Amino acid sequence: MRILLLEDEPELAAALMTALGRRDILVDHVCTLADAALMARFETYDVLVFDRRLPDGEGLDLIPALRREKITAPILMLTALGGLQHRVAGLDAGADDYLAKPFAIEELLARLRALQRRSPIVSSEQFTLGNLTLDPRSNEVSIDGRLIDLARREYLVVEALMRRANRIVTRPVLVEAVYSLDDEIESNALDSHISRVRRKFGAGGASVEIRAIRNIGYLLRVKT
Ligand code: CA
Repeated sequence: MRILLLEDEPELAAALMTALGRRDILVDHVCTLADAALMARFETYDVLVFDRRLPDGEGLDLIPALRREKITAPILMLTALGGLQHRVAGLDAGADDYLAKPFAIEELLARLRALQRRSPIVSSEQFTLGNLTLDPRSNEVSIDGRLIDLARREYLVVEALMRRANRIVTRPVLVEAVYSLDDEIESNALDSHISRVRRKFGAGGASVEIRAIRNIGYLLRVKT
């Protein structure tokens, strides 16, 4: 799961990124409405998590603008404004869920999972190519129905390739899929993820292959 976190309190943001990262949730963190609008337009997220009181305005005001642009990811408001009328205003403004601070991380996680389950885009998708199947709800990849064991970033590489199967996926697109904004990216890390995935595909008897397209990127297709 990949989320956008709009939160201007640095300590809370850092704590959330650590806690969510441990659960294999990729977090892109921004501090202003302007940056959140930018990221939501250019990236695809499973859930958008917005604070309300921000340096450049009110988090709720972003919702109608995003919906007009057909950005349909579910939005969870995470805010100290937890009174009844605040929660009602948040839901009326188009938020899909509302969690008041302070909150328990387990509740946040449960709500993120629930929002992802409800999201029509994610829940309807399961990708199959050759004998390879990828389920983005469970982050599971199987070959002929047998689950294969992938590390988090290996899974993200496979997901990015599966979503664009039979098309060339450029290196920048893959790097963006695998790393959140705040991760440090070691050079050649992408290639080592790819080679580990190839070995696992080989060992599992996959009928698909990842072809390198020199200087451009990679392509997932059925072996010929
Ligand atoms: Ca705030």
